[in-house]
Formats: sequence, structure tokens, C-alpha cells
Amino acid sequence: MPLETAWGDPNQCPFCGGDLPSPGSGFVDHVDDNPDCSDAFDAWRGRVARDVPRGWPG
Ligand SMILES: [Zn+2]
Repeated sequence: MPLETAWGDPNQCPFCGGDLPSPGSGFVDHVDDNPDCSDAFDAWRGRVARDVPRGWPG
């Protein structure tokens, strides 16, 4: 799960600082419930995709 290494604390949303119920899948649920975080995550993922030649898996 590449998300776990993208920031220091996988139990905390890096965009709003909120606690996540669990790393990884909990973050997906969190962005589903928080449009602002979803937008920020999309922007972050876009930057990562440009940085990684093979793109984002899946
Ligand atoms: Zn958040």
C-alpha cells in the first residue's frame, strides 16, 4: 500500500489532520466522506503520477 509511506502517520489524514479509523482503507472511506480531502488527494495523486514514470498502479 503506497499510501502508507507517503506521509509520516498513516492513521492521520494529511489534508485535514483528522484521525483515520484504520490506515489505507480507512483513508479511502475518509475521502469518500470529505469532498475537500478527496479533491486534495486527487491533486496529490496527480503529482505522484507525474513523478513516477510508470504511473499509479490501479
Ligand atoms: Zn481529511
